[in-house]
Amino acid sequence: MSKKYETVIGLEIHAELSTNTKVFCSCSAEFGGETNTHICPRCTGQPGALPIINKAAVEFAVRAGLTFGCDINRYSRFDRKNYFYPDLPKAYQISQLDLPLCLNGKLELSTGNVVRINRIHLEEDAGKLIHDDYHGESLANYNRCSVPLIEIVTEPDIRSAEEAAEFVSKIGLYLKYLGVCDAKMQEGSIRADVNISLREFGSDKFGERTEIKNMNSMRGIQRAIEYEIERQTELLEDGEKNVQETRKFDDAMGITKPLRTKENANDYRYFPEPDILAVTFTDEDIENIRKDIPLLPHEKVAKYVNDYKLSEEDARVITLEKYLSDFYDETVAIYPEYKKVANMFLTEIMRRVKDTDAEEIPIAAKDFAKIVEMSETNVVNRNDAKDIIRVMFEEGGDPMEIAKAKNYIVVEDTSAISEVVDKLLDERPDLIADYFNGKTNVFGFFMGQANRALRGKATPMSVKEYIEKALKEREPKQ
Ligand SMILES: [Zn+2]
Repeated sequence: MSKKYETVIGLEIHAELSTNTKVFCSCSAEFGGETNTHICPRCTGQPGALPIINKAAVEFAVRAGLTFGCDINRYSRFDRKNYFYPDLPKAYQISQLDLPLCLNGKLELSTGNVVRINRIHLEEDAGKLIHDDYHGESLANYNRCSVPLIEIVTEPDIRSAEEAAEFVSKIGLYLKYLGVCDAKMQEGSIRADVNISLREFGSDKFGERTEIKNMNSMRGIQRAIEYEIERQTELLEDGEKNVQETRKFDDAMGITKPLRTKENANDYRYFPEPDILAVTFTDEDIENIRKDIPLLPHEKVAKYVNDYKLSEEDARVITLEKYLSDFYDETVAIYPEYKKVANMFLTEIMRRVKDTDAEEIPIAAKDFAKIVEMSETNVVNRNDAKDIIRVMFEEGGDPMEIAKAKNYIVVEDTSAISEVVDKLLDERPDLIADYFNGKTNVFGFFMGQANRALRGKATPMSVKEYIEKALKEREPKQ
C-alpha cells in the first residue's frame, strides 16, 4: 500500500441500552422474544399514543457520557427525524439533533491516539424487517422498535483499521462495565457506521468520504476499512476523486458496494419533538449519576495490583471481560486470598472459558471459593482440586461432595507417611549419597514417588517435612 495517503476515520457507534423497558413506553426491551409480542400502541405509532421517557435510559446515557469525559447538557431536547420505511411505524424516529445529552468527550487508544467524541445522544431503535424467509414478501418484527440506543459520534481522529476496531471494542467493554449495554455484536446491540476518507500526508483538508453502514463485527469493520483504503488509494492514484456516498460491506466477497448517495440532515426534516418535555439536570442530579459509576477496567487493574498485589499482567487478563472480573471479585469477597484465587482462576477457569462466546462461567463463585480454600488448606491435593473443578464444569455439583465421592479428602496418616518414605529412602542409598553430594533434584524424585504412594493419606506439605527430616537422619557422618 502506498504511504502517500493518510487514512481518516470517524465512527458512529449505536449501542442498545440494557434497560428493562423501552425508551418511550413500558414494553420489554429484551432481545428476541416471540415476533411482535414486545409491542404496544406507543412503539407501533398508533394515533394518539404519546411517548413517556424512560428515566433509566437517560441515566444510562449520562453514565456513558461522564465515563468518556463528556460535558452533560443541563438542558437537552428530543427531535423527530423523519423518514418513511416499514421498519419505523411512526415514520419518524425520536432522536436528538442540536441539544444532545452529552458533548465533547474522548477516549485514548493503546497507540496513544486520543480520539475525540463529538457527542453522545439518546434515540430509539427501529424494528427489524425480514426479507429472505418468504417468497417475494417482507415481514416486519417491531419488538426492537423503541429499544433505547445511544449514538456515540467521534471526530475523524482515527487513523487505521486496527485503531477503529480497538475503539469499538473498548467502547463495548466500557459500556459493559458500566452495566448500560451488553455489547453483544452478534445480537446487534453494538453497531458501527464507519466514515472513511484518504488525504495526502501533510494536508489539512479532508477528502470525500465513504460511509459504511451497520457494521456488526469487529473483523468486518477491519476488513471493510482495509478494502476501502485500497479502493480509495487506487482512485486517487488514477487522478480520480472518491464520491461521497453510503456503501455496504459484503462480508462474503470482502468488498464494499455502493448503497446510495449520502443524505443530508435536511432530507430528514428534523424538528423538535412536541410530545416530550426537555430533559433538565441539576448539578446534584449529575453527581448522583456519577456516584453509580462502577470501577472501570483500568481502575480495576490498579486495584488488583495495588491492593491485592497481583501482577499487572494477571490483573489485565482478569479484567479483559466484565464477567471474568465480576466472578473473581465475587470469589475473593468470600475467600480473600487474592493471589491464590487469581492463580487457580487464571489456569483452571480461564482456559475453560476463553474460547466460548457464552460470557458466563457455569459454576458458582461460592463453589469456586470453596474449592480454592479446600486446596489451600490441604483438605484435598492441588491436582485433585483441579480435577474437582473439571467435574464442576462438566457435571456440576458441590466441591465437597465431589471430593468425598472421589475419595480425594486427605486424611493425614502419619504412620503411612513414615512407612512409605522410610521404605523409599532405604531402597535407594545411591540416591541419598547423590543428594548429599549436591544433586538436590533427588529430593524432587523422592517427593514425587512418596506423593503418588500417599495420595489421599497425606498432604504434600507433610510429606515434604518428613522427607527433609528422614534425609537429615541419613546424612553421612564426617
Ligand atoms: Zn411499546
